[in-house]
Parts: sequence; structure tokens; C-alpha cells
Amino acid sequence: MYQKSVLRGNSPVSIIGAGIAGAWQALLFAQAGHPVTLYERSDADMTLSTSHWAGGMLAPWCEAETSEPVIGRLGIRSLDLWREHFPDTPFNGSLVVAHARDRADFERFARLTTGHVRLDAQGLRDLEPSLEGRFRDGLFYPDEAHVEPRKVLPELHARIEAAGGTVKFDCHVNAQDIDGIVIDCRGLSARNEQPELRGVKGEMVIVETSEVELSRPVRLIHPRWPLYVIPRGDGRFMLGATSIEAEDTGVSVRSALELLGAAYAVHPAFAEARIVEFGSGLRPAFPDNLPRITAHDDRIAVNGLYRHGFLLAPALAELTLGYVQRGAIDNEVMRCV
Ligand SMILES: Cc1cc2nc3c(=O)[nH]c(=O)nc-3n(C[C@H](O)[C@H](O)[C@H](O)COP(=O)(O)OP(=O)(O)OC[C@H]3O[C@@H](n4cnc5c(N)ncnc54)[C@H](O)[C@@H]3O)c2cc1C
Repeated sequence: MYQKSVLRGNSPVSIIGAGIAGAWQALLFAQAGHPVTLYERSDADMTLSTSHWAGGMLAPWCEAETSEPVIGRLGIRSLDLWREHFPDTPFNGSLVVAHARDRADFERFARLTTGHVRLDAQGLRDLEPSLEGRFRDGLFYPDEAHVEPRKVLPELHARIEAAGGTVKFDCHVNAQDIDGIVIDCRGLSARNEQPELRGVKGEMVIVETSEVELSRPVRLIHPRWPLYVIPRGDGRFMLGATSIEAEDTGVSVRSALELLGAAYAVHPAFAEARIVEFGSGLRPAFPDNLPRITAHDDRIAVNGLYRHGFLLAPALAELTLGYVQRGAIDNEVMRCV
């Protein structure tokens, strides 16, 4: 669907928030020829963003277990954009495994998702030699990918500048003070204008060991949360993530035990790993847990990326650009008010 574009071809665009949502918006707008300024209150380490704490899995097929089809549609489009703009992104797939006691949940996961092949113990060993003898079988999602948030965010910021955009860190701004097209990507901080946003806490641990080698995220079926181990290079692994309706940013003993226990269940050598970091972030979510692009004249808000920020940000940026340049409207995610 189209409506008359209220906006102008190559008008300047200001984007607030340099997390994964704002960074992709800035990149696509700058590459399309718009003069872009990206404002971020954090310093370049981005520790004030949720994106800093994320796993970085690009897993539209696995996520179908608990998400609406729109997440899969936008996620698959995003995979193309990640591949096009970041050809070094590891497209090594993801692996889902379960212990015998969680067999029923494993079969349920297989039924609710597509895009996987079943591996027997030999197939698992061929794919991830470290997991030899650990599991009877597994589900392999060959077309999924993962990025390392703390590496890819600075890369995105550098790309924006290479495309002619400006990135201003340590710069807390108010949309009302900025003229022209403004794209609000403030995540949970946008609650002053979108009060239905809530934070969903995700806790994570980073550990280090030379005893385990993995080439792709491994998800362990768990009755409450999708627990996973993501290789981060240099012997580091991220263990994530809880999903708790709470807005404090601590890590509870219970969660730490669950996360570390999941890693130990994937491979006992994790018992000897060194704990590098505990942390947590608040996923910005609307009541339906779906992303939303809200447009009012030259004010656009992109938010509610929930557990799918890295998965969805490229496709959402493409939709926003299509709206600004051609008035194109995606009925599933866009609201013009
Ligand atoms: C533990 C954990 C694991 C996750 N794993 C995954 C995963 O594997 N895959 C996936 O796709 N997603 C994952 N997510 C979800 C993902 O992290 C979020 O969906 C995403 O980070 C949201 O991005 P955002 O850009 O909307 O918000 P943010 O990353 O929070 O960015 C908003 C930015 O706006 C800035 N800001 C706010 N107010 C202002 C202001 N007034 N002026 C200037 N700047 C401002 C903030 O400092 C912040 O940097 C995970 C989340 C958590 C917590």
C-alpha cells in the first residue's frame, strides 16, 4: 500500500539512538544519499544500549517457535541485507539439542519450526566435533547466522560515516529540538512518547575456555527459556538468555545458576571455564511483542524490537526508507497517525 510521501527525496534525516535499530536506519538512509546525523547518549562503547548485551543470533526459523509469522518474514529479508552489507557475517547455521528428559519439548520445537534438518549423533559430531557423544541427535538450521554485537555496532557506525553520515556520541537529545525528518530509535527510553513500551529483562554471562570449540550458536531445549551458547571467538562464549518481566538490571543467583547449568549441560568442560562477565539488558517490547514503525508527518518511531533487534533491524530500516522515499506502507508493522 502507498500513500503520498509526506517527505522529501534527499532531505536531511536525524536519528536518535545508535543501537541496532538506529544504526541500520542511519546506514540505509546515508547510503541512499540523505545527509544523516545519528545521535547517541552513550559513548562509543554503547553500554547504555540494550544492543550491547544481546546474543546477536539471526535465527528467523528457530524464533518461529514462539513468534508471529511477521518475524519470520522480516527476519528472512534481514538475512539478505546482512549478507549484502556484511558479507563476512558467519552464516554457519544454528543447532538445537536436548537431553533425554526434554525429548517431548525437543519434538515440539521441531514441529513448530521449519528450515531444519535432523542430524544423528554422527552428523552432530561432524558439525561440532566438541559435542561428540553428548547428544543423541539435533536439529540443524543451516541458513541462520550470528553476529557479535560488540563488534558489529562499531562496524555499523564506521560504515555510516563512510557513507557520509555523522555519528555523535555522548549526545543526549530531544526530538522536539530537532527540525526535519526525525527517526526515534531510543528503545525503552522512548516510553515518554510510547507509554505502552515495557522492558523484558534478559540476563547473560560471558565465559572463556580453550576446552570447547563451537562454530555456531547451540540452543539447549529448556522448559522455560531458550538457553543458548554462542561462540564469540578467542575462546569466549556468551551464555544467554533469561526472559523476565522485570525492569531492574541485576543478575539473580537463580538466573546465573540456570545459565551456567545450561552451558555445563551442553559440555562439561564449561565447568572449568573462567567467568568474564555477568550482565543484563532490557528488551523494548510492545504488549503484542511485535515491532512497530509509527509515522506522523516527518516524525517516525521505530521500536518494540523485543528479542529480535539484530534479526529485524535491517528490514525495518528498509521499510522506513521506502516510506520516506515512496510513501510505501507495510500494513503489518507500520502505523501512520
Ligand atoms: C540478553 C539479551 C540477548 C539478546 N539476544 C538477541 C539475539 O540473539 N538476537 C536478536 O535479534 N536480538 C537479541 N536481543 C534483543 C535485542 O538486543 C534488542 O531487540 C535490541 O537491542 C533493541 O535495539 P534498539 O536499537 O531498539 O534499542 P537499544 O539498543 O537500547 O538502543 C537505543 C539507544 O538509544 C539511546 N538513547 C536513548 N535516549 C536517547 C536520547 N535522548 N538521545 C540520544 N540517545 C538516546 C540509548 O543510549 C541506546 O543506545 C537480546 C537482548 C538481550 C537483553
